[in-house]
Amino acid sequence: DAPQSKPRSTPNVLITGTPGTGKTTTAEMVAMATGLKKITVGDLVKERTLHDGYNEEFDTYWLNEDKVVDEMEDMLADGGVCVDYHTCDFFPKRWFDLVVVLRATTDKVFDRLTERGYKQNKISENIESEIMQVVLDEARESYDEEIIMELPSNTVDEMEDNVEKITAFVEQFRQARQ
Ligand code: ADP
Ligand code: MN
Repeated sequence: DAPQSKPRSTPNVLITGTPGTGKTTTAEMVAMATGLKKITVGDLVKERTLHDGYNEEFDTYWLNEDKVVDEMEDMLADGGVCVDYHTCDFFPKRWFDLVVVLRATTDKVFDRLTERGYKQNKISENIESEIMQVVLDEARESYDEEIIMELPSNTVDEMEDNVEKITAFVEQFRQARQ
């Protein structure tokens, strides 16, 4: 089904997790540390209209997964990309060499989404999803266990540790593929 390209010399990394777990901040830091190109899928969806209109009830766009995958295919073809998105089950498995699932406690998710001005129903939905580890289960169903890294993201220290771990992976991958 997929166009088989030559092996990547630099990895593609997916950073996923419930909204508020720290994906975008972590991805920015990883991009700075490694030179990977950052794709914040939520922004791409808005900028390039990869959606089918607005869902008023949930204050979000109706994602058009096919359009997103088509748009991203060329960007990821040669590796070197850090992708940040809150779901992970519709990307082609072959795209990613590492899948990071960020986790945070209920109080952290609550505070961060409140700060962001999310509506109460959206905050509740996301907290429930984090407690039920929906994104982690989704990652486990979509990718090989060996490439999944579940990391806590409650404190700045933890975030710095996470960036170090991801950076180390990227460097090892590049050395192995030289
Ligand atoms: P996401 O992209 O997953 O929705 P963000 O990266 O936008 O999350 O983070 C949401 C807010 O929480 C930001 O203000 C960010 O600085 C803060 N934050 C995220 N992760 C951490 C962490 N591990 N420690 C402290 N603050 C964090
Ligand atoms: Mn984000």
